[in-house]
Amino acid sequence: MADIKLDISPMYEGERIRKEDLWIELAGPKAYGFELSLATPMDQIEDGKVSVVGPELSEIKEGSTIPFGMVFKVGGEKIEKDLESIIERRNHALLSYVSGLMHLNQRYDIWLRMGKVLQKKGVTKWENIFKPIIDLYKAEMPFIEKMEITIITDPAKVKEEEEKARAIYIARDARAKGLHDEDVDVFYGCTLCQAFAPTSACVVSPDRPSLCGAITWFDGRAAAKVDPEGPQFAIPKGESADLITGEYASINEMAAKRSGGEYSIMKLYTFFDAPHTSCGCFETIGFYMPEVDGIGIADRDFKGSAPNGLPFSTMAGQTGGGKQVVGFLGMGILYYFSPKFLQADGGWRRVVWMSKALKERVKVGISEDMLPKIATEEDANDIDSLKKFLLKVDHPVVNGVTRTVDSKKITEGWTLEEISDEIKEKVIAFVEKTGGDIDTEAVKADLGLSEGQFMQVIEALQADGVLE
Ligand code: SF4
Repeated sequence: MADIKLDISPMYEGERIRKEDLWIELAGPKAYGFELSLATPMDQIEDGKVSVVGPELSEIKEGSTIPFGMVFKVGGEKIEKDLESIIERRNHALLSYVSGLMHLNQRYDIWLRMGKVLQKKGVTKWENIFKPIIDLYKAEMPFIEKMEITIITDPAKVKEEEEKARAIYIARDARAKGLHDEDVDVFYGCTLCQAFAPTSACVVSPDRPSLCGAITWFDGRAAAKVDPEGPQFAIPKGESADLITGEYASINEMAAKRSGGEYSIMKLYTFFDAPHTSCGCFETIGFYMPEVDGIGIADRDFKGSAPNGLPFSTMAGQTGGGKQVVGFLGMGILYYFSPKFLQADGGWRRVVWMSKALKERVKVGISEDMLPKIATEEDANDIDSLKKFLLKVDHPVVNGVTRTVDSKKITEGWTLEEISDEIKEKVIAFVEKTGGDIDTEAVKADLGLSEGQFMQVIEALQADGVLE
């Protein structure tokens, strides 16, 4: 074992392990798994030890995908609980420093691939990889004085420990939910994902938590304190240029500097105008559908096509890379519980569709009046069925969204771009049938038109001299 020397360097970060080079796949979309870092008293850590619960690497068949969990116990004089997430999040970079090892996502969404290059090196045990990882962690984060790793490959045990880890993630997030942007003078920035998305720079504020879901404001604070020159850093809040969109001079300055001039304005609470960048690690993706003037949101586990016809993976490909992509936005789960969730765009009143599992998961964060008005894949899977659903439930986008934060009407509601002869004939037949006694419910059900669209056609028919 001592003779195996892995190639470890930041230059391997971002390396993809393609199918033809794959030795073993860990967790990911075809299995399950988790990663967890735990601040642990020094006397309860056996420094440098790697233990395994379940099959050793040599017992796993080439080409297989297995459930996988990893628990890192970390200790040190400066280590506090808030640093757990920061250390855990560093897995994404540090594990990827190993040539032949790919690490994606975070928490219960992790997905690792081990390449044949590691097999060729003679790797047969988990400790061949994770002992050097301990050394790497200590070199990169010198405040870690002791570290011990447990690798879990027994499927039942992974499930069991994943449940426990989820409870820890929930507790971390719950703490973050109680704090708001008004309560603090400092936000935190994070550029950890610049290896994958060079112009990406995240802002983590109490009301705009990280899109990867792995770093809360408290985590940012702990990291910036222990390593001010590291990837998480303080952004003194200063004055806001616009409290509704969440525009701050300090954030714009940070964005211009950290993106190398790629963009110079980044607003916290909007989808449309200078939105937050998306590096690719987002837990969920939002997508604008101009046909209904509303926003849809899908989570990573959503396997079908959204009403815009695109699966998560395609949208993620278009959105990632650290650019501001108007029309798509990566968002973390915790943001759905924020009172400032897309507040400039109408918040929940602008959301028209969500993948069912995601809606269920965040439903306590959704405003009560909007909960039944947001479709899922069970209600709509294309634009036509979505339009019918939104008309039926009287969704605010149909007649125009008035945003809660300042009671300003920000959208006009649906209008017809073109009034075809076909729709005119349908409306004439409808008017004749109802004898001019117009019922808006019948307009919606029989014609598939909103009240505003119906009136547009009536006015056109009046202009044609067909109706009085
Ligand atoms: S997604 Fe953003 S906040 Fe999360 S680790 Fe990457 S850069 Fe940091």
